[in-house]
Amino acid sequence: MTYSHNPAEVAVTYLKGVGPKKAEILKGVGIETVEDLLYYLPRRYLDRSNLQSIATLQFGTEVTVVGKIVMQGLLRARKKFYEIVIQDDSGHLPLLWFNGIKYIEKRFKRGMTLSVSGTVSDFRGGARIIHPEVEVIFEDEEEAKIHTGRIIPIYPSTELLKSNWLDSRGFRRIIKPALDQYGDYIEDLVPASVVAEAGLMPLPEAVKQIHYPDNFEIRAQARHSLAFRELLLFQLLVADRRQRITHKHKAHTIAKPDQGFHDWVHGLPFKLTKSQGKAIAEILEDLYKPEPMLKLLQGDVGSGKTVVATMAMMLVARSGFQTAMMAPTELLAQQHFQTITKLLAGTNDNPALLTGTTPARERAAILRSLATGETRVIVGTHALFTDDVTFANLALAVVDEQHRFGVSQREALLAKGNSPDLLVMTATPIPRTLALTAYGDLDLSIIDEMPVGRIPVRTALRTDADRPKIYKFIRDEVNSGNQVFFIYPLVEESLKVQLKAATKAYQDLAEVIFPDLQIGLVHGQMKKEEREQTMARFSKREIGILVSTTVVEVGIDIPDATVIVIEHAERFGLSQLHQLRGRVGRSNKKSYCILITDMEPSSESFLRLSRFVECNDGFKIAELDLELRGPGELLGTKQSGMPEFRVANIASDLSLILTARDYAHRLMTSTLAISEQERLKLKSYIKQRRERELSGGVS
Ligand code: ADP
Ligand code: MG
Repeated sequence: MTYSHNPAEVAVTYLKGVGPKKAEILKGVGIETVEDLLYYLPRRYLDRSNLQSIATLQFGTEVTVVGKIVMQGLLRARKKFYEIVIQDDSGHLPLLWFNGIKYIEKRFKRGMTLSVSGTVSDFRGGARIIHPEVEVIFEDEEEAKIHTGRIIPIYPSTELLKSNWLDSRGFRRIIKPALDQYGDYIEDLVPASVVAEAGLMPLPEAVKQIHYPDNFEIRAQARHSLAFRELLLFQLLVADRRQRITHKHKAHTIAKPDQGFHDWVHGLPFKLTKSQGKAIAEILEDLYKPEPMLKLLQGDVGSGKTVVATMAMMLVARSGFQTAMMAPTELLAQQHFQTITKLLAGTNDNPALLTGTTPARERAAILRSLATGETRVIVGTHALFTDDVTFANLALAVVDEQHRFGVSQREALLAKGNSPDLLVMTATPIPRTLALTAYGDLDLSIIDEMPVGRIPVRTALRTDADRPKIYKFIRDEVNSGNQVFFIYPLVEESLKVQLKAATKAYQDLAEVIFPDLQIGLVHGQMKKEEREQTMARFSKREIGILVSTTVVEVGIDIPDATVIVIEHAERFGLSQLHQLRGRVGRSNKKSYCILITDMEPSSESFLRLSRFVECNDGFKIAELDLELRGPGELLGTKQSGMPEFRVANIASDLSLILTARDYAHRLMTSTLAISEQERLKLKSYIKQRRERELSGGVS
């Protein structure tokens, strides 16, 4: 047996000081091998080379000082807080905590030497630091060795990690020796020619410098080198995914639009916007190409994506092939089905609807007619890609609201045809960086124009105190023939409690506040028939007010709805709020979105909502969301195919993403020379990652 130095092949348990217990805890944060550990990156650094003395601190500056604890204790002014006073040769500095008091109290003892970082604030003319970053400085020998570097890494940690000796110092104690022993043997998958041309730091050097940088300029280079590698490998996966599909020729040929098609377009109840026209032209161009289309159609809520998709579906059906549209929820599938049925009325095609609740006999009939090719247009949910669904000649798959589907689901649908074209629609305007990563394998078409006559929705942020006014306003709206949504947040974790809250609110509205108006309730846990009935009544305007959990979030189209009231608005992401706001303002009537929150006006949540109130642009909101809550929130679910990067920052690394993509493309098309060995290494990496992705593992 040979002994491996490659940290990717060495389990963390081989490290001194890592026993089974610690290994288990580390596994919980995704660290199993020494390589994983070496990619556990510092959250920030302590710059010992730039220590300041307490007497000379300036208000408002970020500083690091070292001092001994001379006093500590719990104090109470308007609020409880914990104070520690440290001292150096020049003076005293109070440190204040308002949260996590128990932990602070337990951890720090009088006489300890602390290294403290934070922003100096002015407290009645004296300096203090609130919630500083604190490191205990120990004098033992081992620590001294690790600390000889002048810039010291501070690692992220959690309560669980801390209680298992994996605080920042604990991490330093295992990472530093791991770097020394294995750092030189980290394997670089990026070919030498790329490293040279892109001017990257050698990988082992970059990893060392990111932990113990010589200075901050070098650290920036190290980060750049690591982020680039990470993005390049990711873009290779994306390019591979794309090539797997596009290297085949499709089996179908779509007929050019004929007079019948043009007549149908002219018969639509509205004129297409310029932007819609451009999008459909781009889609048609791809439909005529020999290789399958991989298209992402992006457009703000209400921009009219459905009709564009329907045009493509219509053309495919007229050419004698099958086409399927998949929606993320039953409700949305039903609505698309109705819309498409209406749009296709008078043509040869009667769309079918297949969802999880389609009765068995009806389902069997639909499956038969799909297998024979008799049914050419079908709309459905996930039910469309169960194993027993077979198509005679599926030529176009349309997926609405992509972020609810995973890559593996997308591929399962595509596998039902012989290289069908793919059209993915998303109403979440995706910042460019995300489009290039999460959807990097798709070509982008954008609808960036609203149908004429739309008036921007007026948004307001209100609190409980405003309820009487809000209710009066709603009554007036309903009495003048308009309709209103009331939205309650519903998150998986506490389904029952919140369901109760929504139901209770519904009863209040129905019995106490608007006993004279027609009110309906829909939520996700309801029987399909009941929900459908209520939605249908709302749609027919028999109901004036619809109380709902977020099931109406995506897609639902009720032209007369002019007000949407969103309760506990702070519980929603901004993009999600924007989606909800898009449920109104879908006609030429003046519409309103009223956010209700009980957050303090000074709280971060309140500020976040205030920024939303001022912005009607879905793209800007998505960017805000990305900045404030990260990509996971923005895309909705964990299984969104959204990569989690260890170094790269999806919100800010746009130019790096573009460069990496460029290199990935050159590698895929072999316009960049690499050795056979390098090629094989990359190939096996891609294969391994792909297997993980398709088996539903993390990407
Ligand atoms: P989304 O892009 O959010 O899916 P929809 O496709 O549901 O938007 O369209 C929103 C509404 O706008 C629908 O009622 C649709 O019939 C209408 N619509 C679509 N295109 C136009 C247009 N060019 N002019 C006027 N109304 C349009
Ligand atoms: Mg839609």
